[in-house]
Amino acid sequence: MLTIDHSTSVNNIVDNRADLMNNLASSSAPEGNGPIGGQHPSELEQAQRVWAACLDLIKERVNSQSFKTWFEPVVPQNLQGGTLIVQVPSQFFYDWLEEHYYTIINTTITRVLGPDAALEYSVRTEESPVDVDYSPVIASPIRPSQPVPPVQPLPPAPRSSSNVTSRDMDFQTYLNPRYTFDNFIKGDSNQLARAAASAVSNNPGGTSFNPLVIYGGTGLGKTHLIQAIGNHALSTGKARRVMYVSSEKFTVEFVDAIQTDRISDFSSFYRSMDILIVDDIQFFSGKEKTQDNFFHTFNELHQLGKQLVLSSDRPPKELKGLDDRLLSRFQWGLTSDIQAPDLETRIAILRKKSEDDHIELPQDVVEFIAANVTSNIRELEGCLISVLARASLEGREINLDLARDVLKVVVGDVRTPITIESIQRTVCEYFSVPEDMLRAKTRKQEIVNARQIAMYLAKELTNASLKTIGLHFGGRDHSTVIHAYQSVEDQMRVDSKYQTHVTQIKRRLQLLGHV
Ligand code: ADP
Ligand code: MG
Repeated sequence: MLTIDHSTSVNNIVDNRADLMNNLASSSAPEGNGPIGGQHPSELEQAQRVWAACLDLIKERVNSQSFKTWFEPVVPQNLQGGTLIVQVPSQFFYDWLEEHYYTIINTTITRVLGPDAALEYSVRTEESPVDVDYSPVIASPIRPSQPVPPVQPLPPAPRSSSNVTSRDMDFQTYLNPRYTFDNFIKGDSNQLARAAASAVSNNPGGTSFNPLVIYGGTGLGKTHLIQAIGNHALSTGKARRVMYVSSEKFTVEFVDAIQTDRISDFSSFYRSMDILIVDDIQFFSGKEKTQDNFFHTFNELHQLGKQLVLSSDRPPKELKGLDDRLLSRFQWGLTSDIQAPDLETRIAILRKKSEDDHIELPQDVVEFIAANVTSNIRELEGCLISVLARASLEGREINLDLARDVLKVVVGDVRTPITIESIQRTVCEYFSVPEDMLRAKTRKQEIVNARQIAMYLAKELTNASLKTIGLHFGGRDHSTVIHAYQSVEDQMRVDSKYQTHVTQIKRRLQLLGHV
């Protein structure tokens, strides 16, 4: 078992800058120079090599922003036996890694160094800075001389909270307890998937959703949702044996079982589950033997009335290199997608995350991040983390200026001009109406309403001519645009609720486009 001895070692390691710099300087020297300052150069080199290997793996699992912010500044210091010692810039930094990346770090270090690996942290002190070229995201100074962080750092996660042990206590479930239904924000984009997941977790194997297959793009919440099923079923006693496994891990273990002649142990272990959750099944593609084993595991569990939960990055029918026998099994149950979240959901997610972390985010900062980071919830979280990190490490207030600075790095230049298209998109998102309806002939009241407001804003916020605006709305005449404009102005004067809608949409557009 891996023992990551974080808590005891923080601040315990004597941080000797002279030694470290000596070793960095001598790390390119030929072997056999002898120990310098009590540490063998080869230990440092090994530590650097091990950490580089870890970074390669971690890079695949976190977004590039979080990687830059939280992993690049970590400095490998020493490797003694199976224990890798790394240095982090601050206590807050350490806490953040523990809270947010415990599982990733844990599994990565085990993969690189083996099951007996241990990781120890040392926290850099004022007396022991290291000259490292930090990521531009956390601009210098890393530790302000008077650090008054506006952010309350989180307490480190209890170590036992990762890798929940199953009720039978004889194996690890590999479920992350942070993934619950409670902190999974509902929205149009995930409604069906969430409802199905919830039903399955309350009655595993007993609904017609078996298997339950959730698919969708990266960072949209598949892993969160499928693990929430396991966590909920375990905590409510609806299942005793739950296993979460990625298809890659399943494959690696399968190959290992063949090589060590333990294939029947392997098969019977997975076939003893009440709920088997397999993440990212697209990686089964082309791995015929593994698929064959999984196919039999699937059948056996299904026959026993046990629950199967699978996720994939695309609809099953688009999964190339997957056995047709297996694909046809998916039709026995329910397949549901998760879409990219709409603006409301993105705002709600940011609110929830900051609330959970006891951080007060001003409304305009929430809206600004949500308006600019649109495609993926992992990115959204990454931006929030970057904003908090910058605020904390540079002692800055969390405000729109800070958010703009951070997002400039993350999503590039956010100063996109407001266009008729962006107006149409924003208005439709606001009123939840399909965009093509703006161009259609329909006279349905809610569509007419959205269309008129979009025309009004197009005239207000762009330089487009009335004719061009009309063309963007299904080839309507310029007099229709004038009529829409006047009608919106009139209604705003007499109806304050209506006026609020228009103002809110305008504000969203301004956050997006800085007019
Ligand atoms: P995927 O597996 O689809 O790539 P994840 O499940 O890893 O995505 O989600 C990425 C991050 O976004 C996770 O930290 C997850 O907790 C968060 N997340 C995704 N969807 C939601 C949601 N609806 N509410 C709250 N957090 C979410
Ligand atoms: Mg995932």
